[in-house]
Amino acid sequence: MFETILYPTDFSDVAQKALTYIDRLKSSGATTVIIVHVIDARTLDLLVYAPAHYMTIEKDLREDAENKMAIVRKHLEKSGFDVIIRIEIGIPADVILQLEKEEDVSVIVLGSHGKSNIKEMFLGSVSERVIRSALKPVLVVKR
Ligand code: ATP
Ligand code: MN
Repeated sequence: MFETILYPTDFSDVAQKALTYIDRLKSSGATTVIIVHVIDARTLDLLVYAPAHYMTIEKDLREDAENKMAIVRKHLEKSGFDVIIRIEIGIPADVILQLEKEEDVSVIVLGSHGKSNIKEMFLGSVSERVIRSALKPVLVVKR
């Protein structure tokens, strides 16, 4: 039923917690996890004010994401999943929703909150937009 899982992560504690539930989906037939991390283009846009640093900062962000991805990949492969990794630059919710359309996704698993994790917020802005517009079921892992 949930063969292919789309797992968007900002590598926050809450997103990390979602891994436990992905592992549990294994026993209900999940085989593949597409992990996606989006480098927020709006952060990079701010670097127009420091153009000399644009390339280094983009490279640093990408390398950082690749290193963290490698750890998540290892974990999921150990659990027996086929893993596909996507690191993209864009608006996080847009990229996640686009991937949902492009790939044969059965379920999206994400955190209710992420890096900001503001106490008063019911949901983060990325999870809110994804839950609102996704066509497939969404498993929201609470903080
Ligand atoms: P906000 O970003 O609105 O200040 P927040 O950081 O607490 O709030 P979200 O960013 O909505 O909350 O994060 C919720 C979940 O969305 C995360 O646990 C993660 O699963 C996913 N997510 C957030 N940002 C990204 C990203 N850049 N790339 C991939 N997935 C993301
Ligand atoms: Mn966030």
